This record gives sequence, structure tokens and C-alpha cells, in this order.
Amino acid sequence: MEYLFRFREENVIKVLKEVNIVDVEASTLIEGQAIVIENGRIVDVTRSPVGGEAISFRGAFLCPGLVDAHVHLVWEGQPDPNSFSLRESVAMTAYRAARSAWRNLEGGVTTVRDVGGPHGISIALAEAIEQGISQGARVLAAGSPVVQTGGHVYSISEEADGPDEVRKAVRRQIKAGAHLIKLMCSGGAYTRGESIHATQLTPAEIRAAVEEAKAAERRVAAHALPEQAIQNALEAGVTTVEHAALLSKRNLDAFCTTGAFMVPTLAPYYLMATRGREMGVPDYAVVKSEQVMEHYPTSLQMAFAAGVRIALGTDAGSPGIPHPTVPFEAWLWQSLANIPAPAILRAATLGAAEAVGLEQEIGRIQQGYWADFVVYRSNPLEDITVLHHPEAIFQRGAQVAGGGTVWSKTLLG
Ligand SMILES: [Zn+2]
Repeated sequence: MEYLFRFREENVIKVLKEVNIVDVEASTLIEGQAIVIENGRIVDVTRSPVGGEAISFRGAFLCPGLVDAHVHLVWEGQPDPNSFSLRESVAMTAYRAARSAWRNLEGGVTTVRDVGGPHGISIALAEAIEQGISQGARVLAAGSPVVQTGGHVYSISEEADGPDEVRKAVRRQIKAGAHLIKLMCSGGAYTRGESIHATQLTPAEIRAAVEEAKAAERRVAAHALPEQAIQNALEAGVTTVEHAALLSKRNLDAFCTTGAFMVPTLAPYYLMATRGREMGVPDYAVVKSEQVMEHYPTSLQMAFAAGVRIALGTDAGSPGIPHPTVPFEAWLWQSLANIPAPAILRAATLGAAEAVGLEQEIGRIQQGYWADFVVYRSNPLEDITVLHHPEAIFQRGAQVAGGGTVWSKTLLG
């Protein structure tokens, strides 16, 4: 994957002094440290740095840059994204995606995995950001999701039926430059006329897709809400199951034996269920979201208790949730499912990095890693709501933003 990391790099040696490092693996603080950065990477973490251009953060908390394992950059929270995508010009959608990538970065999310958008926009955006043409979070992109005819969010997807067509669709996405493959293995909330309990793509079709993706060294992300769809995806060997809202004991066992990741995304369902009607979300989507939310917090608790590998995702861009959504999603995990802050923080950094295959590059503040981090005034291991107030954001060692408040702050009870 080294093609993802061709960059303009800064040659200045920089030293960030007097910081408390948030160790997301050990859930502890390493106090009074200095970080030495060269060419965008961390070259040393020490108590007594020598030389370099020093910046002091006097007692601030330095957290690895947040990673969102599930976004849609082409959308910005419109109440009915399907009809929106069909109406807007490709060029306009591309500008919108660039703004979404910037907004993530500005909010402390330094890496996103885009799990579906049309016209190869996010694939091109990933390259544009890498080359410095556009500024934003690092992007890994799936291109168009592969769906059965009329399947979930077909408006932005490539329709394919039968294992051979699915194979061809996967090959086309890889040809287009997709970093991973996204499959829709069940119905969802905001496509009209499909049930959240409906499985989509047959086990044979999912297996064909996974086989093709693996042959090309790509991971597979599967959208699956109901029990049977989650099971189909896990048995076929996908790397991540997106949403996984209606989990069973059988699913938990399959997660644990395969080592696949669950990517929970409570935010869109919660907001559509609680505020959908006032936002103008179609009624069918509100009703389906209410059904999802009856089970979702329990599913999340069950997954944590069973030791399932978990990566935080948000579905940012979906109805009601503009970018970035990591701070809000984190707060929902705590307030609806009682997940402790350190576990949430791990899922939003190293956990998500593992799920996307970048755990040797990002997600830790450690020698050799990219100098992507967020500075906070208080300790996020104790108070997860602090994610709403990033004081400074560093990407590859350069301070790129900071000082704002994330949009969702007003929604916190
Ligand atoms: Zn999604």
C-alpha cells in the first residue's frame, strides 16, 4: 500500500514539547513528553529532546489523529441522499466531497475510509489529497459499492447479479483504483421499498466478491443490518461488517473466530429516529431507524462484552450527519450503550486503523508512525466529549487546523 503515501513532506525537524501522550492501547497517559518529528513522521518520543524547532503545548493532551472507518464524502447530511445524488452534477458532487474531507481534518479526523460514492470521486480525491492538490483527511476509498439489482443505495452503486457479474463488478472497481471493496449484503434505512431484515446478495455472490478482492489484495467491507446478513458476510470472509445492528450470539461467535471487525454506526439511525421528521427525512426511513435503534445499543454492548474487534465508524454524510461525526458517535456509544471512554477512544484510533490495514502507520503516537495527532485541553480518556473541541490538528507533522467546535456539540444532552 505504499502508493498511499507519496507526499510532500516537511524537512524541518520539529519538537512538540510538554505534552501528555494519550496511549490508546494501555488506556493511560504518558506525561511530560516531547515528540520529535522529521519528514512528517515521529522519529522520537522522549523526555529530553535536543535541537529542532520547538513548539510548546504546556500540559495539553496529545491523541493519535481520529480515524473514521465509515464515511460517505459525497454526502453532507441531506435528508434524502439517494434522490440528491441522482440530481446533482458530478462536478458539484466532487467539490462537496473535497469539502467533506477538509471538514473531517478540521475536526480532528485525520483519516477516513469512504465506503461508497459514485463516479470514482473519492478515489480521485484520495489521490488529490496525497499530491497536495486538495487538503483534507487521508482517504481510503471503496469507489462504487457492489449491489444486487435494486439493492441498498443503488443510486451510487454498481448493480450485479450472479457470482460472475459480481466478480466483474469487483474487478471494475479495482480497475478504477478502489482501495477496498464495499458490498451491500442487506437492506437499509434510507432506500425506499426495502426491509432492514432483507438479506441482499447470495452467499455465493458474496464469496465470489471476497475471492476477487483478496486476489487483488483488497479488503471487503459489508453493509449488513440483520442477523442472517451479518452471518453471510462473516462466513464469506469479509474484513469488516458495517452497522451490524441486529446481532445474535451466533454472529458474535463468527466475529470472534474470523477476527473480522464490527464497524458500528449509531449516529444516522439515532438522528433519523429522534429528529428525522423535523429534518425532512422520508417517513419510511424514520420508521426503519426506530426499529434499528430498539436493538442497536444492546448489540454494541454484546459485541464489546464478547471481545469482538471494533472500529468506530459513523456513516458521516448520511441524513442529519455532516462531517465530521466521530465526536458525536463517541458520545452516543457512551450515553446509549455505556461504553467506557478509553474503549471508545481505542476504536476511534488504533481500532479503526487496524480495520483499514494502516495500524503500522497511524493510530499510535510512537516512533516510525505518521505525525498525525490532535491536541486537546483535557483528557479524552476521562471525558469523551472533549473530542468536540480540538485545539490543534497535526497532519504529517504540520499543524493544519485547530481551535473550532464540532457541529454536533449542540446535540449533546
Ligand atoms: Zn454507509
